Amino acid sequence: MTPSLAGAKRVVVKIGSALIVDSATAAPREAWLAGVAEDIAAIVKRGVEVMVVSSGAIALARRQLGFLGAKLKLEEKQAAAAVGQIRLAQAWSEALGAVGITAAQMLLTLDDTEDRRRYLNARATLATLLGLGCVPVINENDSVATNEIRFGDNDRLAARVAAMMQAEVLVLLSDIDGLYTADPRRNALAAHLPVVEALTPEIMAMGGEPPVGFSSGGMKTKLIAAEIATQAGVAMAIALGHRDHPLAALESAGKCTWFLPAPEGRSARKNWIAGHLAAAGAVVVDAGAVRALKKGSSLLPAGIKAVSGVFERGDAVDILAVDGARIGRGLAAYSSGDAALIAGHRSEDFEGLLGWRGRDEVIHRDDLVLF
Ligand code: GLU
Repeated sequence: MTPSLAGAKRVVVKIGSALIVDSATAAPREAWLAGVAEDIAAIVKRGVEVMVVSSGAIALARRQLGFLGAKLKLEEKQAAAAVGQIRLAQAWSEALGAVGITAAQMLLTLDDTEDRRRYLNARATLATLLGLGCVPVINENDSVATNEIRFGDNDRLAARVAAMMQAEVLVLLSDIDGLYTADPRRNALAAHLPVVEALTPEIMAMGGEPPVGFSSGGMKTKLIAAEIATQAGVAMAIALGHRDHPLAALESAGKCTWFLPAPEGRSARKNWIAGHLAAAGAVVVDAGAVRALKKGSSLLPAGIKAVSGVFERGDAVDILAVDGARIGRGLAAYSSGDAALIAGHRSEDFEGLLGWRGRDEVIHRDDLVLF
């Protein structure tokens, strides 16, 4: 079955610089953005959580700063991003505000999606924002990212965000309505592919080099993004952004390419938790907690009888029943010291015990595997 935007509960939409920024004036394309914001509002109204990954910071400021060459140096990009990001965030805040949605800016670097502790932090913040009904508008933190730690393109950043947040669908709004067997601007025989079931070497070879100009992407980075997304169980669409109301158009079965999630995709992360990490410690849980876990709940501190070993937030820990049986494994949201302090307590006591209010779960169900 072809995935659809209509069937998803959590969606990431990536929007490139060429869509957001008017090439003649180097200003945000406000009318187009207003249409996208209306589309987002219609989706949010149905109870769907939407995150936006928006490029455009560098493109908005390069002319203002006199950076006119086709290729900017890293320090020029960093400076342009610092200036342009303010305008970009403002444009989003105004466009979403006009449809009654609170926009929230999140700037991420590669480390925020790779390093487990920072990953948990970024994910928790995004989840909180979504819970509050905000639409996070995410970009790379270009001003502090050096070449070694840069994504460099927002296609990959968007795919990492979609994987991190376990979105069902990632939409890359592009200047092209999908993947073609060859570049349709140069080859009249190029055929459009409505669905890509697997990213075979033939498919991967269809991504040429990125065009010179505003964006760092091109089909190549979109296919790499497709690899990241589909492996994590996320369906991805490449759809035409150069039209009014591009998301509404996609929903009414507009032309696009869907990349289907890998069949074993959603469990890949859980396999990684279960199989590839040495547990740094363990938590012993009572019978009530065992029952709750088996029903799919997160592990709350109230059900924890004891904590052993030394672990940090983000480390893998074993979950043991009172008789010592190993029933599961997960990534701890608290260090061993903090987990021991809140063990047996309810969330309203955390602040008194820890001096700060952390998350309610010691292991979130998304980070937990039962054996
Ligand atoms: N983060 C860059 C910006 O906002 C864009 C990266 C990309 O083109 O994908 O300007």
